[in-house]
Amino acid sequence: MAVKKGMEYTGTVERTDFPNKGIVFVDGEKICVKNALPGQKIKFTIGKVRNGRAEGNLKEVLEPSPIETAEPLCPHFGQCGGCSYQRIAYRDQLELKSGQVKRLLDNAAEGEYEFQGIVPSPTDRAYRNKMEFSFGDSCKYGELTLGLHKKGSFYDILQITDCAIVDSDYNTIIKCVVELAREFGLTYAHKLTHRGYLRHLLIRRATMTGEILVNLITTSQWTDGIITETEFMGKLRDRLKELNLNGSIVGILHSVNDDNADAVKAERTDILFGKDFLIEELLGLFFRISTFSFFQTNSRGAEVLYSTARDFIGDTGDKVIFDLYSGTGTIAQVLAPVAKKVIGVEIVAEAVESARDNTNFNNISNCEFICGDVLKVLDTIEDKPDLIVLDPPREGIHPKALDKIIAYGVDRIVYISCNPVSLARDLGPLQAGGYRLEKAKCVDMFPQTGHVETVVLMNKNFSEAKDHVQIGIDMKGMK
Ligand code: SAH
Repeated sequence: MAVKKGMEYTGTVERTDFPNKGIVFVDGEKICVKNALPGQKIKFTIGKVRNGRAEGNLKEVLEPSPIETAEPLCPHFGQCGGCSYQRIAYRDQLELKSGQVKRLLDNAAEGEYEFQGIVPSPTDRAYRNKMEFSFGDSCKYGELTLGLHKKGSFYDILQITDCAIVDSDYNTIIKCVVELAREFGLTYAHKLTHRGYLRHLLIRRATMTGEILVNLITTSQWTDGIITETEFMGKLRDRLKELNLNGSIVGILHSVNDDNADAVKAERTDILFGKDFLIEELLGLFFRISTFSFFQTNSRGAEVLYSTARDFIGDTGDKVIFDLYSGTGTIAQVLAPVAKKVIGVEIVAEAVESARDNTNFNNISNCEFICGDVLKVLDTIEDKPDLIVLDPPREGIHPKALDKIIAYGVDRIVYISCNPVSLARDLGPLQAGGYRLEKAKCVDMFPQTGHVETVVLMNKNFSEAKDHVQIGIDMKGMK
């Protein structure tokens, strides 16, 4: 390659590959510049050059993209590391994402398939039912802040006051908690030295029921002498309960986490008020969600996603279905009423417990959940599936697990994916195993960001080539 590390160029971004890789050509050479939007004129320097692939580092946007026409939704845009698509009108966001997924699938698919475009999220703002905020400061030795990481920064935390992708209740709660912490001069846990007290504030708010769970996560190093830790927690509980909110707080929790990694989790949790779970409703079913178990973060979007998956699955009467990577058992329970039996497999024990509780709660008796790694559990299940639903994490499916899945020889497999790159990769072995990609549809669960969910139907007996390829956006159903 003629380009060398450190060289500076300007260029126009040709396209963006999922999720945020801007593609620019310099003298015919392809450079990948992260966080650049299609059509932007940018200045960048060459970073890594390896195996004929060059990466560029974005220095400056010289001219905006023609699709950057929208007014940002919140005052934090530009500084905040979240929501990079706010300047793009929602319709254009959808087109961008479905185009990215289609490109990946077109390259991976052997033969024609039906691309059914993208379904928008029922709401493009205030859609999140969970958010994790961090404590820190906005600059070294600055005032205590509670919010989200500044764009490109590992340390600096931007004070959030008006986040647009959550209900205003979140902003009210953040303000209350940070003001109380400042009042008593509390410290935040420094990421490098691990000294200090406050770590994260995890808020869950069920969209359908309005139930709110607030969880303050700290280290065990209470060092602040004005009041005791117990007194502080009492004040926190009282102040939160006094707030005037759209929804209602059903639980206030305090978790302790001394682990060095920056993950939001707990070694111990005390209930300061109420209960340690909330109830959300999806498609007429109720789900009990605890603070740390996985649940789709856009409840209304999840209804669209699960309905799409159900449509793709088609006839399930009298069939045994495997729901692999089942989380809290949402998909299993959506399918159970129209199937003979559903078996869910999930690695996180807490999620499996919630899944079992939920089936009892919903009076569903034909679901069974097994805790363990899909790769191993499949060897122990005696039932044979007629249909398989896959919903793996970001990394996709372990190749050996995929071999075992293919070996069942079921006619249809529905694969739901939050990462179309790993989905496209997994299509390889599935096609080599005799499956054909019949149809695909995207569901936007993450408006204002570059993320998207994809549902595909793989069919063993699908031989007819369909040349019905389209990108469509069905804006019906949007608020
Ligand atoms: N289908 C669920 C959850 C999907 S997220 C829903 O829609 O809510 C993916 C799930 O896979 C997570 O709950 C994660 O804990 C689980 N998981 C990750 N690796 C796994 C493995 N090797 N075996 C089983 N489950 C796994």
